[in-house]
Amino acid sequence: MYLYNSLTHKKELFVPNDPSLVKMYTCGPTVYHYAHIGNLRTYIMEDVLEKSLRYLGYPVKRVMNITDVGHLASDADTGEDKMLKGARREHKTVMEIAKFYTDAFFADCDKLNIKRPDVVEPATNCIPEYIHMVQTLLDKGFAYLAGGNVYFDTSKLKQYYVFNDHDEEDLEVGVREGVEEDTNKKNKNDFVLWFTKSKFEDQALKWESPWGVGYPGWHIECSCISMKHLGETLDIHCGGIDNAFPHHTNEIAQSESYLGHKWCNYWFHVHHLNTDQGKMSKSKGEFLTVSLLEQKGYDPMVYRLFCLQSHYRRNLVFSWENLDNAQAAYDKLIAKIAALKTEGEVDAEAFDKLKERFVSALNGDLNTSVAVTSLYDVLKAKCNDATKLAAIADFDRVLSLNLLSAAENLRKKQAEEAQTPVDPEIDALVAARTEAKKAKNFAEADRIRDELKARGIEIIDTPQGAKWRKV
Ligand code: AMP
Ligand code: ZN
Repeated sequence: MYLYNSLTHKKELFVPNDPSLVKMYTCGPTVYHYAHIGNLRTYIMEDVLEKSLRYLGYPVKRVMNITDVGHLASDADTGEDKMLKGARREHKTVMEIAKFYTDAFFADCDKLNIKRPDVVEPATNCIPEYIHMVQTLLDKGFAYLAGGNVYFDTSKLKQYYVFNDHDEEDLEVGVREGVEEDTNKKNKNDFVLWFTKSKFEDQALKWESPWGVGYPGWHIECSCISMKHLGETLDIHCGGIDNAFPHHTNEIAQSESYLGHKWCNYWFHVHHLNTDQGKMSKSKGEFLTVSLLEQKGYDPMVYRLFCLQSHYRRNLVFSWENLDNAQAAYDKLIAKIAALKTEGEVDAEAFDKLKERFVSALNGDLNTSVAVTSLYDVLKAKCNDATKLAAIADFDRVLSLNLLSAAENLRKKQAEEAQTPVDPEIDALVAARTEAKKAKNFAEADRIRDELKARGIEIIDTPQGAKWRKV
């Protein structure tokens, strides 16, 4: 498999340290609010990467943190802790907020068929690990104490900007967010490993440390949680492109200074989902969540398909019109699959041929749009339907679009509709009863039901609405 590696700025053949276990790490969500669908684009594409590796025969162990402490409003270590902001907004404790939004995050992941990583570790679970790493960095001369905080000293590194092909804008995180200078820092890019002097006296979560009561910086959690579960080397580290700087740059700085050797070989960054007004945000404009898509009548699978239709290294623009196009594509695909017959034997040779294009799409830097197109190749192929259905089931192990179950549901719905007799007068009475029920006029609803009963018609309430049959 060829993957673009942000560290070397080119596509490279993926060679794990040990092919019997690919070690993969993912930066998890900051659980102070619901995830927006931009965040979830990143998790969908990482899910496809993990499933592709498994599909291609690699066993994978994937670890994800949950950021429940230390991520400040600005990625440049200033501003209020995001968790505290969430707690204040909802008049709850930080831990209540963390639990609620962690559960909400995984509920969204379930709806989008995003597999739960093998290990999920909240940042607040690993305080002894952070203290150990920070102390080692101090002992090795890579960190210093200033104004009560412990900072990483970036001047001690041969190279700090490892992902230096990013936009200027990405590198100017501090400037962009209008952050005032932290005068304790010796160098502009130094970052906090451990805080004791927060501007906010009411920082809710604090722990004893050799440097005073305080809390960890945001970056240290990912280095320590990765090493706790995956050891001293890592094959792939994933995240959204905004994480490349400063978060991942700082993770590399502290991890490799701590270890004394290279840490992670491949860096996989998913580019952003934007709106036509620019950056997606939780505070400005419409807060786009999976629940909002559902409220507007979209199946979360339509959003997953929308993401898969474009390459992970391109920015993607969200609009309702674009989502409608994905909805139309999904409906068409499912209708075609529903029309396939289930009889016949799978033709192994034809099946392997169908797989070829799909596998080569995955191997070519995870080209999910070509992988999706290869479904249409299957539908057009000259083999029998059983072979087509087997190929679709096989591809869906990676795409996870519920292709067969959605087709089955459509077939059932079509069968039900075919059974429902047509009679405009009775249809109108059934509709009037539905309206009466909606208006809570239950007496009228019952009256219509009784009238129909007297005429030998029974109403059946189904999740798709009221149907009727002659008895
Ligand atoms: P956070 O909860 O802020 O820590 O972010 C969770 C993940 O979402 C990180 O990997 C971010 O890089 C990623 N992310 C943030 N904004 C976007 C966006 N607009 N599109 C795609 N990914 C994003
Ligand atoms: Zn991280």
